[in-house]
Amino acid sequence: MATTRGATERLDSGDCYRRTLSRSIRVNKEEHLRVKSAVIRRDFLKTGIMLVGGLVVLGSLGEVPAQAHVRPPGVIDESKFLAACNRCGRCLDACPTQGLTTVSLLDPRSSGSPTLSGYCRVFDEVSIPPYPGGNDELKSGAIPGTPCLKCVYSCPTGALTVLDIRQAKMGLAAIDKGTCLGWVSGTCNRCFDTCPVNAVVESVQYQPVVDATKCIGCAQCTYVCPTSPKSVIVNPLERT
Ligand code: SF4
Ligand code: SF4
Ligand code: SF4
Repeated sequence: MATTRGATERLDSGDCYRRTLSRSIRVNKEEHLRVKSAVIRRDFLKTGIMLVGGLVVLGSLGEVPAQAHVRPPGVIDESKFLAACNRCGRCLDACPTQGLTTVSLLDPRSSGSPTLSGYCRVFDEVSIPPYPGGNDELKSGAIPGTPCLKCVYSCPTGALTVLDIRQAKMGLAAIDKGTCLGWVSGTCNRCFDTCPVNAVVESVQYQPVVDATKCIGCAQCTYVCPTSPKSVIVNPLERT
């Protein structure tokens, strides 16, 4: 019995040793992984902070060229707008289409200021979302249209100027004739049908062209364009 108990004790003690060893290895591995991920996180944060810090320093030194952005209606002079906008985000909250977002940290001069990345409703009578034929009454002049301008009226600093929405210049639409279905196969005129200010004209049947004097950059044409990627996009204007 004593021999058996001794053998069992030795066996137990061996098992115990192996268990302790394997636990110790596991703990070491977990610790290693913890330290490794902490180092990766720290390096990531350090790199991010250095990148943003570098951009901010360069921006303050005037070495980062100002970037142009598609803006909400009411921006006429970019420098005055940037000086007045306190980045409160009220215009974003007021926009019924949720088409406004903020410029990222990668552009330190403009970061936090509003940019139109979706589409602008323009008139309260335009359905959300817009659809071809949905603006017929506006386009024909049967109804005058009530300017939305909720972003402008919500701005507490006057960074966005009250204006005639038909004179707004948020950006300027451009059509890619290489992919536009109107130009490629004469099978689409959605932007022509939708544009709330009649800025899309058809040069030949179903071949749309943007009239730069009328386009306000609302991007409703982009929204209704059926191609992927979109064959009509709104580009920012240089307004510095
Ligand atoms: S006018 Fe209206 S829809 Fe257009 S950006 Fe301003 S709040 Fe949004
Ligand atoms: S509401 Fe006016 S101040 Fe506030 S983020 Fe918009 S533009 Fe800037
Ligand atoms: S062409 Fe496009 S961006 Fe320009 S006003 Fe018409 S729908 Fe808006």
